[in-house]
Amino acid sequence: MSGTVYLVGAGPGDPELLTVKAWRLLVTADVVFHDRLISDAILGLPRRGVQVIDVGKQPGDVATRQDTINELLVTAAESHNSVVRLKGGDPFIFGRGAEEARHLRAHGIEVEIVPGITSALGLLTSAGIPVTSRGVAGGFAVVTGQRATGETDWSRYAAVDTLVILMGVRNRASIATALIAAGRRGAESTMFIERGTTSTERRVCSTLAEVADNTTVISSPAVWIIGAVTEHASVSLVNS
Ligand code: SAH
Repeated sequence: MSGTVYLVGAGPGDPELLTVKAWRLLVTADVVFHDRLISDAILGLPRRGVQVIDVGKQPGDVATRQDTINELLVTAAESHNSVVRLKGGDPFIFGRGAEEARHLRAHGIEVEIVPGITSALGLLTSAGIPVTSRGVAGGFAVVTGQRATGETDWSRYAAVDTLVILMGVRNRASIATALIAAGRRGAESTMFIERGTTSTERRVCSTLAEVADNTTVISSPAVWIIGAVTEHASVSLVNS
């Protein structure tokens, strides 16, 4: 009988933004495998003596490493009751959680998936930016700035009220240029939130045109928010 693998979302950074279920699974885990971007406070939760293994991939380091992670999880489930696979934010938002779940199930291993607060929404809310706001933004899209294969057709997203781009730091100038070409205003406000909900969080405001001109200095990881809601934070807070 093999154990269960829990694919757990760790939330955006602040340990207090873990779900109660994620916290319970972490403090009772027999072994933990985690990605990059998980805070030390969260990695300190497992019991003493429990192995906490970093399987984080660097950006650009792709296919073979994922195979290795899949194999490590299968092997761990053969000798542990409770295997926690911890991912930043929500495990199914750009986290390859679904691939891991499929692989494990194909090997007859029980998998339970525990959602987490995604950085794509949680960082905005923590910063007082409403992702939707009556009269300002009636919808949003969350898009990757870095596809594994092919190019993103930004004209498909250009008309969405609030655009939230993850993994977009490196390609930000070309993304901004494509969005302007597809009809978004160069004067539109945008905001980057670096290392959100951690003690070193930094917010950078600029226009889309400034980003296209590459005058912004941003470091990864950051969530990039494009849309009028970045200007309406205080108004919406007062109204709510
Ligand atoms: N599954 C994760 C996203 C993984 S993709 C989630 O739901 O949040 C990794 C990207 O998420 C980063 O490149 C960055 O864009 C964003 N990200 C995750 N945590 C972040 C944080 N604390 N601050 C800023 N961006 C973050």
